[in-house]
Amino acid sequence: MAVTIKSAKEIELMREAGRLLEIVHDEMGRMIRPGISTMDINEYGDRLIRKLGCTPNFLDYGGFPASICVSVNEEVVHGIPRKDRILKEGDIVSLDAGLIYKGYHSDAARTHAVGKIDPRIQNLMDVTKRSFFEGIRMAKAGNHLFDISAAIDDYVSRFGYGIVRDLVGHGIGTSLHEDPQIPNFREKRKGMKLIPGMTLAIEPMINMGTWKVDWLEDEWTVVTRDRKPSAHYENTILITDGEPEILTLHT
Ligand code: MG
Repeated sequence: MAVTIKSAKEIELMREAGRLLEIVHDEMGRMIRPGISTMDINEYGDRLIRKLGCTPNFLDYGGFPASICVSVNEEVVHGIPRKDRILKEGDIVSLDAGLIYKGYHSDAARTHAVGKIDPRIQNLMDVTKRSFFEGIRMAKAGNHLFDISAAIDDYVSRFGYGIVRDLVGHGIGTSLHEDPQIPNFREKRKGMKLIPGMTLAIEPMINMGTWKVDWLEDEWTVVTRDRKPSAHYENTILITDGEPEILTLHT
């Protein structure tokens, strides 16, 4: 699929899709505590997306059976919500959510602590989030796509964490996944030139240990090969003439 450059009118719709998704993430974030199930989060998020007049874009995407991906501890992404998966003190939980507003998609992920967590795991979460901001410092017209990738890699590598290579960020618009693919690791090439009107989902997935991952029997859940924790942070952004605009984060 080709890379799309959004018109002013499309950008307005992307902004609204992003703004509404931020509300969903904020509300889901507030419910995180020991004792709730990963299905509780999915049901709450699904209801809220629909209440806001939108459609969850993950539900049935390639057959995914839920609206929110809920991934606990060593689960990197695409965790399937379950009634019997109960969050407990010391866990971390990554919520990946997306919605469609008037035909336009937004996509964002946050990792939350459940109660009090190990400071080493908090550091993994902090570095993952900060790596996103390091990456988008390069997300300017005239720079190249893999400048973003290299900035994320350079920052994360200082901490010795593993950068997931099997899954990457992506363009987004009238489809959830558009070109280009956006790795979170350094490439030998520069990649395409960034142009105002591109909308991109930048999403570092960072592991405490090895970068290697496995897929579980359910064919969805991605876990770290060494079963150490993993964190995920994602926003949908817009390339402009100046600084990038983060469509799914305002506060
Ligand atoms: Mg994404």
